[in-house]
Amino acid sequence: MSNDLKQMDQDSIIAALKRVGANQPCPRCGNTEFSVLNGYDNVWITQTIDGNLFPGGPRGPAFSVPSALLACTRCGYLSTHALGALGLLPPDETSR
Ligand SMILES: [Zn+2]
Repeated sequence: MSNDLKQMDQDSIIAALKRVGANQPCPRCGNTEFSVLNGYDNVWITQTIDGNLFPGGPRGPAFSVPSALLACTRCGYLSTHALGALGLLPPDETSR
C-alpha cells in the first residue's frame, strides 16, 4: 500500500483551507498559487523548555501535530496547517 498523499486527500486539504478562509497570497512574494506537498509533516512539540527531542530522544512529554504542507509555487515559502484544526484527522487521532 502506498503512503503517497492521495488526490482525494489533496482535494480535502484544499477544500478545508477554502472553508476556513485560508486564501491569502504568499506572505513572502504575494503569489497566489500554492502546491500541496506529497506527504504530511509531523511537528514535534515538547512541554518543557529543555525538552530537546534530538539527539538522544525525548526528555519530557512530547506529542506531534500531523500537518499538511503547502509550498508557494514561485518562492517556495512553506506554510504548515494542522490537520486537526481543519477537521481532517481520523477520529482516533483527534481523541488523544
Ligand atoms: Zn511566495
